[in-house]
Amino acid sequence: MRDHEPLIWPFEDIPAWPQYTFELRWTMADGKGNSAQPKMTAFSLEEALQTLARVYEKRCDEGGTDYSAVVYCKGVLPFHMEWFCHSTRPAGRSDVEIMQHFERYVAWVLDNRLDTDHDGPISLMGAEERWRWRGEEEGSAPPCRCKGCVESDRVRINH
Ligand SMILES: [Zn+2]
Repeated sequence: MRDHEPLIWPFEDIPAWPQYTFELRWTMADGKGNSAQPKMTAFSLEEALQTLARVYEKRCDEGGTDYSAVVYCKGVLPFHMEWFCHSTRPAGRSDVEIMQHFERYVAWVLDNRLDTDHDGPISLMGAEERWRWRGEEEGSAPPCRCKGCVESDRVRINH
């Protein structure tokens, strides 16, 4: 079982929120053990449980048995990890402020070596390379504030 020590963002001038994820373990039909610990995080326990349920059902379809799962708080962090994307609550911030905050978050992850190959607790998924940052479309300025973002009270930096 991996270390579930929560990561705590240390700078009070940038807002941060609790983030949730899970670890799922199961056994395949051939007896081999397997596990999944997504780098992506959810905004709520409910959202993390919904994702866990989807992954569990998929593994059941593939013949997995003997499951165990841990849903846990990954930490209190200013940006959520999504699939080649980071999101945050807008909290009244301008685009410029959000991008400055993202810059500091990426620097903090790298300075603390939280994204070290496959073993680090965080995967930046390419966000360490600034030229990848974009809004909704290829070539558009980040962050994305599309209808989907607004409706879910988040802004996204795609990369
Ligand atoms: Zn969007």
